[in-house]
Amino acid sequence: MLADIHSNLEALHAVLADASGYDDVWVLGDIVGYGPHPHECLEIVRELNAACVAGNHDLGAVGSYPLEWFNQVAREACAWTSRQLSEGDALFLQGLPHILSIGQFMLVHGSPRQPASEYVTSPQLATEMGAVCTCTHCLVGHTHRAAAFSLEMPSVLPCQAGVSVSLAQGRLLLNPGAVGQPRDGDSRAAYGVLDEGECTFEFHRVVYDVEATSAEIVRQGLPEALGMRLHAGY
Ligand code: ZN
Repeated sequence: MLADIHSNLEALHAVLADASGYDDVWVLGDIVGYGPHPHECLEIVRELNAACVAGNHDLGAVGSYPLEWFNQVAREACAWTSRQLSEGDALFLQGLPHILSIGQFMLVHGSPRQPASEYVTSPQLATEMGAVCTCTHCLVGHTHRAAAFSLEMPSVLPCQAGVSVSLAQGRLLLNPGAVGQPRDGDSRAAYGVLDEGECTFEFHRVVYDVEATSAEIVRQGLPEALGMRLHAGY
């Protein structure tokens, strides 16, 4: 399970190589924005036949999200991203659903209440989502930080790399963290592995070539700060 790829091709390659052996790929939005390889990342996601929902940056790149909701750097990157998209890329992004239900899982970028924009950052907010989420579990991205919260009562579960969370313990809200722009002080790409047979969700981190992405950001004329933050994991 991937979230917030953000046009970071190096990170996407590293995650897919590390995860090897999966049946399906689910993407929780923000395939594009910030990074230097929007077209290439979209191509891979489409080739994987991944189940995807739209993120605010995906919508922003095709004019379906108010740009004034982005900060200056994100807005610049968004305008640049729009210019890189092929017609097929744009149609794909425009056609993304905001919410997907797959079995007992609801997939959204932000939250079930405001799919493209709301950040679920606390166990209290997660319990509010319990009333809105129509599936057993809720899978989100958007915060760029891994998280595991209960949907039933304010409760934080461990979510460090290597931790495996049992889905049998109650209704959960899970965020795998960001593939392409982690914001927890750890520059490694984050992703999650859902094992429906074992009924578990496992958090993973993998090292990727941060310098290559960062150098390409500069080469493409994107704001330099977007490369620097990748090194800091923020
Ligand atoms: Zn994002």
